[in-house]
Amino acid sequence: MGRKVEELHPYLAAAHNRAAAEYQRLYPDDPQPFYTETRRSTEEQTAYYAQGREKLEETNRLRKIAGLGAITFEENQRKVTNAKPGKTLHSVNPSLAYDIAFKIGNKLYYDLKYFQQYAKIVLQDPRIEWGGNWKSFVDNPHFQFRGVRASHLSQVGFDPIRFTEQFTLKK
Ligand SMILES: [Zn+2]
Repeated sequence: MGRKVEELHPYLAAAHNRAAAEYQRLYPDDPQPFYTETRRSTEEQTAYYAQGREKLEETNRLRKIAGLGAITFEENQRKVTNAKPGKTLHSVNPSLAYDIAFKIGNKLYYDLKYFQQYAKIVLQDPRIEWGGNWKSFVDNPHFQFRGVRASHLSQVGFDPIRFTEQFTLKK
């Protein structure tokens, strides 16, 4: 999993930094947000898409190709993404999406409550969309440029800042 901030669109990185600082101020005793993923390679997305869809042997074969460790039978029962390889905002460079989780020390938290607290802050920026608000595949750890879809990624010169201008004007 890629967690490099250099592979995340600088606008999103700045938005996260502001939100994380505000989160720390409001909820100093709660687990704090951190990146679990910025950019994801096509090989990684192929392996993630297989999870919950292919047999364990095939999922782990694809994970090995992507440089990921093997998962268990139980973990392979659960889908973790609805996006086919090349159809996720994580797959471009810089990534137009990021995933987070929360931690205190080495202990990780994925409670809905923490995602909601963070989302309430970061969604003050009209350019940002939260996967927790999606209907078809709820993706609580996922934040991205609002309204941007996989179909936009193939457009030459697509600029998420210009695209999301429409949402900032409505404010
Ligand atoms: Zn994501």
